[in-house]
Amino acid sequence: MLKLQNITITKDDKTIISDISLEIKNGNMHYLMGPNGSGKSTLALAIMGYPEYEVEGEIIFEGQDITRLSPDKRAKLGLFLSMQYPPAIKGVTILSLLKNSYQAIYGKVNVLEFRKKVLDEATKLGLGADTLSRYVNDGFSGGERKRLELLQLIILKPKLAILDEPDSGLDIDATKLMSTELEKLSKEGMTFLIITHLAQLSSKPDRVSIIKNGKIVEEGGVKILARLQERGFNN
Ligand code: ADP
Ligand code: MG
Repeated sequence: MLKLQNITITKDDKTIISDISLEIKNGNMHYLMGPNGSGKSTLALAIMGYPEYEVEGEIIFEGQDITRLSPDKRAKLGLFLSMQYPPAIKGVTILSLLKNSYQAIYGKVNVLEFRKKVLDEATKLGLGADTLSRYVNDGFSGGERKRLELLQLIILKPKLAILDEPDSGLDIDATKLMSTELEKLSKEGMTFLIITHLAQLSSKPDRVSIIKNGKIVEEGGVKILARLQERGFNN
């Protein structure tokens, strides 16, 4: 579904990612793991088209070269990024963000029906009834922001979801909720690239790639997780 071919990412002449090639297969749950500062968030942002990085190599999504496409075009094709630190956007309510994003991808909706659907899902995620009319992430705690990202994922149903540390800042119950929801979306066919330290979101990722200092140093199956949990990244 997604192929990264010899990707090098630089910012102001500093090389952050060097010559990474990676394939994420349709329907897979693919983990990207690695120590702090290894370039995980940079890679995630670059896949989505963050304009401040210079990208060499090719990003191929469902056979199409998207390396030079703007982020909104990538989103329309079915890519979604949940950032490690989702920013607040004052003046934009959560409902309008979701409605406009949804309509840009799928076409016009009935606003009342859409509102009801969003409210139902938000309630299931433990977000208050006032959530929809609040500004995006404004005054939300770290954990609430992650739930809001999950809400977007559930409503927008992208083909490929890139989640940058969706488990960070969550308490035990919220982590369980996140895992259950991600497993459900995965069973429905969504493809995932999940950046995580703790590897507690899914019992069975299909693939695990380890990144260090901007390079993929290892790739394999779920077996890698047990070793990491025992010995960390410096084995
Ligand atoms: P990770 O997500 O794996 O912890 P990051 O991708 O956030 O790592 O960062 C990798 C390295 O790139 C870090 O040394 C970080 O300081 C640097 N970096 C990331 N973005 C920028 C930027 N916009 N300007 C300068 N350096 C950056
Ligand atoms: Mg990061």
